[in-house]
Amino acid sequence: MANEAIHLTGKLRGTSQTEAWIDRGRLTFTPIPGARDVCGWIYPGLVDAHAHPGVSHDEIPVSDDEVIRRLAVMASQGVTTAREMGAQRDVSHLAQTGRTKVIRSGRHIARFKRYIRHLPVDVEPADLPREAARQARRGDGWIKIVGDWIDRSDGSCSDLRPLWPRPALIEAVRAAHDEGARVAVHTFATETIEDLLVAGVDCIEHGTGMTWEHMREASSRGILIDPTVRQISTFPQIAAQATKYPVYRTRMLAMYERQREHLAMLVEAGSHLLMGSDSNEDVADKGMPAELILAVAMGMPPSRVMAGASYSGRRLLGLPSWEEGASADFVVYNADPEENIEEVTRPGTVFIDGIAVKF
Ligand SMILES: [Zn+2]
Repeated sequence: MANEAIHLTGKLRGTSQTEAWIDRGRLTFTPIPGARDVCGWIYPGLVDAHAHPGVSHDEIPVSDDEVIRRLAVMASQGVTTAREMGAQRDVSHLAQTGRTKVIRSGRHIARFKRYIRHLPVDVEPADLPREAARQARRGDGWIKIVGDWIDRSDGSCSDLRPLWPRPALIEAVRAAHDEGARVAVHTFATETIEDLLVAGVDCIEHGTGMTWEHMREASSRGILIDPTVRQISTFPQIAAQATKYPVYRTRMLAMYERQREHLAMLVEAGSHLLMGSDSNEDVADKGMPAELILAVAMGMPPSRVMAGASYSGRRLLGLPSWEEGASADFVVYNADPEENIEEVTRPGTVFIDGIAVKF
């Protein structure tokens, strides 16, 4: 029922409060007599920090109906906000009542023949700053740059290589910041990271090539890291297809084999971790529940995983959690997901703007 008063009790995660109320879609700590009790393990709504509800893999943009389907699936998974990292079209107006809210990043920015076809806007380095500014004006405070990808111009020696010379990156980050946007960069390769740190990017996506020193540096600079655990687990499939590129293949497999150790280092380095599924039309199987379960299976502490997916990830992205008056986006579990991470597959109730999502 719309705008029903709710009394939240049980274990409220990410706050020292023991109870809270939802009043006309907003969070309050002022008791509301007669409010309906909702009890359980309650988290501020999950944020999928790397999602693609608006991405199409061919020239035809994804339809409104398909975007709405993806957002409804995400909402049923307890994801109340998705950071859309690079869609061809603006989908935020489709995030209406009962669906996951969308933070847009503008479109992927890549270089000609250096990323997945149909996905990015392709520019040469001289045009990167101008495009960064243009995409910044089209997003909700983020832009998305592809930092490295396989360079197939080197025959059997082809390998992952940075897309951009350092000066272009520096200028692009400055241009985005001047427009008030933060910069997220896709990267797998170690060689890319130093440039990203020098350029002052705000979020490193995947980050498989980061060394311990890179992690410490990113941590001290407040750079967000979105390790996309499930995406990295597909590296063996990517490698298996790269039959013509043995150097690249070896590197992708080595990063896959190091994944568990790499995640442990990220945690140890005090990284500012976001959780992101990198899912698109496959969100029902490969959305946030799959990401969180795999992260725990790969050794990440469940408390860090849930904090990154909920209140601490929200704070890093500038979203409210337990602040009085905040819009009431919550997910309620019937058992503790930090005891059994499988609980994330079956939220009891999901509230978006104080309204229980139907699923
Ligand atoms: Zn992605």
